[in-house]
Formats: sequence, C-alpha cells, structure tokens
Amino acid sequence: MTSDRGSPVWHPFTQHALQPEATMIARGAGAVLETPDGRRIIDAISSWWVVTHGHRHPTIVEAIHRQIDILDQVIFAGFTHEPAEELAARLIQLAPAGLAHVFYSDSGSTAVEVAIKMALGYWHNTGGKRHRILALEHAYHGDTVGAMSAGARGVFTEAYAPLLFEVVRVPFPSADDAQSTLDAIEAACAAGDVAALLVEPLILGAGGMRIYSAETLAEMVRVARHHGALVIADEVMTGWGRTGALFASTQAGITPDILCTAKGLTGGSIPLAATLATAAIFDAHVSSDRRRTFFHSSSYTANPIACAAGLANCNVWREEPVMERIDLLQTAQEAHIAPFRDDADFANVRRIGTITALDLVVPDNGYLAEIGPKLYAFFANRDVLLRPLGNTIYVMPPYCIEDDDLDHIYRTIRDAADACI
Ligand SMILES: *Cc1c(COP(=O)(O)O)cnc(C)c1O
Repeated sequence: MTSDRGSPVWHPFTQHALQPEATMIARGAGAVLETPDGRRIIDAISSWWVVTHGHRHPTIVEAIHRQIDILDQVIFAGFTHEPAEELAARLIQLAPAGLAHVFYSDSGSTAVEVAIKMALGYWHNTGGKRHRILALEHAYHGDTVGAMSAGARGVFTEAYAPLLFEVVRVPFPSADDAQSTLDAIEAACAAGDVAALLVEPLILGAGGMRIYSAETLAEMVRVARHHGALVIADEVMTGWGRTGALFASTQAGITPDILCTAKGLTGGSIPLAATLATAAIFDAHVSSDRRRTFFHSSSYTANPIACAAGLANCNVWREEPVMERIDLLQTAQEAHIAPFRDDADFANVRRIGTITALDLVVPDNGYLAEIGPKLYAFFANRDVLLRPLGNTIYVMPPYCIEDDDLDHIYRTIRDAADACI
C-alpha cells in the first residue's frame, strides 16, 4: 500500500494508511490545545501523560528563556553545570529516602534502559551471578529494545521479537489474587539469578490502566528483597503527583534501589529523564578499574535547558499549592466517574489519584481492536483528545483543568457509548 500524503513526517504509533491526516496544533495553554483556525481541543490525556501543571506554565517558560541565554548545551562527561547539579540535589530531596545519585537521560525508555544496565552493572561489578529481570504481565516500559523486552509482548513487539531478551513474567496482581503474583516472584527468585524486579508502581499505564494496591506492591518488594534481588520502580508515568503522591513508591512505603522518572519531570515542556540510584548501586561502579565504569551516555545527557525546566518544575511544586490542586482534581475526577459505576455500558470503573479509567462493554466478536480508533475519532469530533487503549477509556488531564472542560469530557464519554457500541 502506498501513501500519497503531502507530509514527509512519519508519526509514532500511527497507521498512516488508516489515519492519513494529523491534526495541526498551533498553540497550547493550560489544559487546552488550539488549531490554527482557533478550534479548542481539551487535552484530556496531558499530551501523552507528560503535561502536569498545564501547557506553557509561566515559571517553566521563563526558566527556559533564561537558560537558553546562558548555556544551551555542554558535554556532560567531565563537565557539569548549575541546572544539572541543582536539579539532582532537589530530586534527591523529593524522591523516596535512600536514593542518592542521579543519572540523566532523555526519555522514559532510556531511563529504563539505564536502570536495567545499572542493575546488571551492579551484579557484574560485585561478582553476583544474576542477570534475570522480573517484570509484570501487561507491563509497559518504553519502546527501545531493552525497555520493550521488559514490557508485555504482542502485536506491537512481534516484528522485533528476535532481538528481545527473555524476562521472567509475573502475573498482574489482581484484586482477588495477589498471592499468585507473590508466589511467582518467590518461585522465580528462588533460582538465585534474579538481578531485579522491575515494576510500574500502583498502576500499569499503557498495559490498560490496571491498578493494584500499595499493600501488594510493598509485599512484592519484600519478597524480591528477601532473595537479594534489586527493585526498579518505573515511575515514568506515576511520578509527579499522578497517583495522588509525588511518587507512587511513597504510597507503598518503599524505596526502590533504582527509580526512573521522565514525563512530568519538566512539567511536560522539554524531554528529560533521570534514573535515581542508591549509594550501593553507584558505589559498585566506583573503582580504580576503568572496566567498572557505568558505560552509558547520550549526546544531550543533562541538557542545561531541559535541566532548567526540570528545576523550574520543582520550584512550581515548592511554591504553588500543587498538592491542593491534585486533591481537588481527585475529588472532581471521582465525582465524574461515580455515575459510570451504575452504567451497564461500562465496566471496571476505576480511579487512582488523578487518573480515571473505565472499559466500554462491547460485543465479544473480535470487534475489540476496532473500537479504540472509533472512539478516538468520536472524541476528536467533539474536540476532546482522548486516546483509548482498546475499549479502555482513561482520563489523565493536567492538574489545572477547568470544571467545564471535565464536564465536557465525561459527557462525551457517555455519548460515545451510544454512538460507538
Ligand atoms: C511512557 C512510559 C515509558 C516510556 O517513556 P518515553 O518517554 O515515551 O520513552 C516508560 N515507562 C512507563 C511506565 C511509561 O508510561
């Protein structure tokens, strides 16, 4: 099949044969995107889960302006700069206690690659014969090869399967059977070669907005640690308030050995990621033997403009009532989702922190794959940016979203059931 689109741009996760046109966006402000002809689109998924305080938060915009006039970019091996130093110090203050070092990269996927490499480097350098990664069923950790390996396999990964490494897959801890998950971790760890348990704390995002309890997470960590395995928390989505706390790990009272953050790190303004590690992980890489160096870098590691944006994000958290905004949004989200609990067209109506999700009940005839795009188009026609995962509709707005816009989102979801089933 050929495509005769006018644009040379190849879009992510886009089937160009079925979706030839991309919507042009000219401006963004708060929770709203605007097309060149002035159409107002509600950004109900925070532009793929990154925008926390709203588009173009003035504190972040100003920090970017200021930094670009001072230092745009510098090699980060052997050199450092104020924004990177300050941001690292702030991240250590904000993160679960016990994390002591910050390694910068550019995306959630690379933050996870770095985490996996740190874990294997730790065992390599300390003489432990451990190389296996435990990961959850339905997990999503990014689209680079290592992150993809740890994520769930499916149509998205089929073509690349020969390159993906094996991980030990642990069942998702369902509400009525967390024990199977704990047993699987126990059984896998008993072999003694598990390097790390890699988890999305409290909610699996791209795998269907599947929520599990803080108690279960704490138990999973306890079992893995009992067998000496490291714990990696992928907080790329859950970080920066999404689940109702700054980091989801805190809600379970855990400090992972390694923590990945990205999406909300700059408030959603510029790409930046960080992988935080305990002193033990860092120290395992400190040696007069150069072979123990942590061999990872990317050209733009700790880009000063991105770090300045990250620092500005931390300032917004310190100086503005962000937690109060999150509390208000949680309350509003709960009020809006509640009626769907008695609505026969929807199932598994759920919420954690600022995120709600619900499954549209559709006839079981293989139609499931088609419902996502159909819903997406319906929402787009109503000027709502929602991007369902199959029949799972979720709402993850910037914390500044207005009540009227939330009303419109949920009215549109209700209407979608009549229009699309
Ligand atoms: C989005 C996401 C990633 C990948 O982040 P990118 O910045 O898109 O590479 C990794 N892990 C989780 C949990 C995510 O939600």
